[in-house]
Formats: sequence, structure tokens, C-alpha cells
Amino acid sequence: MHEQLEALQAELAQLKARLCEMQQENHLLNEKLTAALDGTDLCLWQGLPQSGELTVFNLQNFKAGDMAPHFDLWLAKLHPEDYEAALTSYSDHLAGRAPFYEAEYRTFRKDGGITWLWDRGRVVERDEQGRPLRIMGAHLDITRRKEYEQRLAQMAHIDPLTSLANRRLLMDRLKAEMERANRHDHQFVVAMLDVDHFKRFNDKHGHEVGDRILVAVARHMEASLREYDLCGRWGGEEFLLILPQTSLEQAHAIVSRLHGGIQQASILANKKTLSVTVSIGMTEYRPGEDFSATLNRADAAMLEAKRRGRDCLLSA
Ligand code: GH3
Ligand code: MG
Ligand code: MG
Repeated sequence: MHEQLEALQAELAQLKARLCEMQQENHLLNEKLTAALDGTDLCLWQGLPQSGELTVFNLQNFKAGDMAPHFDLWLAKLHPEDYEAALTSYSDHLAGRAPFYEAEYRTFRKDGGITWLWDRGRVVERDEQGRPLRIMGAHLDITRRKEYEQRLAQMAHIDPLTSLANRRLLMDRLKAEMERANRHDHQFVVAMLDVDHFKRFNDKHGHEVGDRILVAVARHMEASLREYDLCGRWGGEEFLLILPQTSLEQAHAIVSRLHGGIQQASILANKKTLSVTVSIGMTEYRPGEDFSATLNRADAAMLEAKRRGRDCLLSA
């Protein structure tokens, strides 16, 4: 009896020692994992599909409370535009239709801001019937990358000097307006606007003052147009206006007002007050034609305005 007790005590001591070793190993593994994840925006998570419970392991990468502790809360925080794609990928994987779950989505933070996540996971445990018991994965904060991508996309469409739409965006919009006009029988008007004797301003006051004049004209155009009109820099000192769903008569009233406004504007540059005039050619899109034909007509009308002495608006 005494020997048996001693043997059991020895076994218990061995088990305790083994437990201690395993706890140390576990601690070491945790340290390694934490060290590997430190400085990354990676966050490890586990989900239990049956109960919907969600757990995050390395919260140092994620503020406590930011991660929803339940699948339903995760869904509730998903941006409506990304909801369907994320949920479909998740359900497809759980149902065995995809080898893993993967999604890029926006999620609403507690402070009301938006975090972009790249999320991926896979089922690591199933029951005897093959139903998923546990899914493990990781998500990465890709907000900075997304913002950078958005800035780049914006820059591809914006003129850096005036911050107006650039020629590429104007072309895209013209194409879209042409398609809309042909589909829905809508009218639209384009106007080409060119600063008069601009070279003289550059020569007399310097290129920088020339730049300021272009910015001032741009701000004035922006302020004079309606929300759904688009004005942009076509190139050099030429600007293009696109007035959707507008007849030539309506456009004439809008563009005349804009023209008069530019005539009256005082532009302060290098302690001097300057004023500029512009010549404008305007035309309506004709159903069935290519938008380049519309542009050519507006350009020809603008050149005719120049020939007639500048500072005027002509329709073609
Ligand atoms: P017109 O009345 O016939 O239009 O005469 P203009 O002098 O305005 O036309 P011209 O085409 O002879 O000259 C346009 C000038 O615009 C020449 C070019 O150096 C200047 N220019 C083009 N882009 C810029 C720019 O971004 N900044 C400045 N400051 N000048 C520019
Ligand atoms: Mg000019
Ligand atoms: Mg010009």
C-alpha cells in the first residue's frame, strides 16, 4: 500500500514536471508568435461556427473591443458595399465549396471611422458529420494601402495645378454622357473655353502669375456651375465644360453668366490686380455622332470667337 502510494507520488511528480515543461514550451511558442506578429498589422482569430463565438489572440495588434466577439457583431460592422462578397466567401468555404475563406472589406470602427481588412481563414476542425466546428484565420489592416490606392486613382484624374478634372477624366465623362444621351434621348452641351492672350500675361508677369490666373479661372468656373456639371482642364490655358441634360438655350444662360463673372473678376497676383477675358465655343451633342465631332464643333466655335476679336461666347 505504502509502495503503491510512493509510486503514484513519483508519477505525479513526473507529470507535474512534464506539465511545467509544457507550460514553458507553450510560453516560448507564445513569445515567438508575438515577436513574429509584433510590428505587423496581422491579427489572428478563431471562430466557432456553431455558437458564432469569435476570439482574437493577439490583441496588442488590435484595440480591445474593436474585434466583434460574435459573428453577428462582425456582420453588423461590415460596410454595406462589402457585406455580400465577404459573407458569400465565408459561407462558400464553410459549405465546402471553396478551399478557404478570403475577403477584403471595410469595417466600422468604434470611433465611427473605417478600417480596411484583408481577411483569410479555413476550417481546422469538423465533427463526425463533417460540420465545421472551428475556423482559424488572420486579418491584416490594409487601410493605409487602400488610402494610397485611392489617392493614386484620384491623382490619375486630377490636374495638379488647378485640382480640376484632367483631360482623361473629361474624356471618360464625355463618353459616358454620349452613351447616356443615345440611350435615354438626353441632351448635353460642351463648351471649350480658352484664356485670351494668355502668353502675354506669362511674358509680362512671369509663369507663376500665369499659373495663379489659371487657378483663379478654375475656381471661378467651379463656383459658377451646377453640382452635376463638370469642368476640367483640357490642356494649357484651355478648359472644357460638360453640362449634362441641358439644352443649348439653358447652357447659354449658364455659360454667359460664367463668362461675365470671369470678365469682372479681379485676380490678385504679385500685389497686382489683374483681369482676364476668355473666348468660349459651345455646342450641343447631336444624337448618333461620336463625341469627338462635338468637341471639334466646340473648338471651331471657340476659334471663331477668337477671330471675331476674343472675349465672346459663340454657339455652333
Ligand atoms: P489666344 O488669345 O489666341 O488664345 O492667345 P494665347 O496667348 O492665350 O495663346 P497661345 O496658344 O499663343 O499661348 C498659350 C500659352 O499658355 C503658351 C504657354 O506657355 C502657356 N501655358 C500653357 N500651360 C501653362 C501653364 O500651366 N502655366 C502657365 N503659366 N502657362 C501655360
Ligand atoms: Mg489662349
Ligand atoms: Mg489655347
